[in-house]
Amino acid sequence: MKIRPIKIKAKDGKPPRFPVKEALAKVRKLIYRGNKVECPCCNKTFSLFLYSPYMSALCPYCLSFERYRLLCKYLRDETDFGSRQIRLLDIAPTWCFQEFCRSFELVDYVSIDISSPIAMRKMDICNLTFEDESFDCIICYHVLEHIKDDRKALSEIYRVMRKGGWGIIQVPIHIEKTVERRELSKEEAKEICKFPSHLRAYGRDFKQILEGAGFQVEVSDFVKKFSEDEIKRFGLDRSEELYICKK
Ligand SMILES: [Zn+2]
Repeated sequence: MKIRPIKIKAKDGKPPRFPVKEALAKVRKLIYRGNKVECPCCNKTFSLFLYSPYMSALCPYCLSFERYRLLCKYLRDETDFGSRQIRLLDIAPTWCFQEFCRSFELVDYVSIDISSPIAMRKMDICNLTFEDESFDCIICYHVLEHIKDDRKALSEIYRVMRKGGWGIIQVPIHIEKTVERRELSKEEAKEICKFPSHLRAYGRDFKQILEGAGFQVEVSDFVKKFSEDEIKRFGLDRSEELYICKK
């Protein structure tokens, strides 16, 4: 049985609150107090990042992991995020990124997921019930590899993005050319797709896949600007590139 977190729905359109998560985060912040590492999501410092068998380092407070810390660092350092009113759609939300968005008064945050109790609305990425051009910014992190019809999902993201809007759409990339799980033998799929729930393995042609949906795409090596010490301080993954999609 899955334990669902205790959730308090906000009436004013703000994201829900999770009082137990928040209380535990405060306890961990106290235990791991210090100034050796810094989380760009919650903007707090600690003595260390926590070890996780799946991701190498979790923030003791907001439980962010590498790719979310890179995203928040990018938004803080390289964009005007939070300095003007935007409506943002977060697909398959995480608590760390929800709370990051909550910290900006001008970010009108909406999250969806097919099943996650964190999400504000239950919705299928291939059948978004939003009007055309509803969002200024869309974040879709490591979702498409789980979606049978990823092209339909991308066309939906494109449809609900405003002209002049932008988003960051990330998938795990380990190979040169994208391949579908159904085209592989069982052994190949295990090797190439890595996780049983990944329906395909994306390659470096992911940029063309995004362009095929209509986006103008910039592949940013933002992470390369950090020194070795900064990579350790912010707990970033050197190999992660950002796929910035504009409409
Ligand atoms: Zn954090």
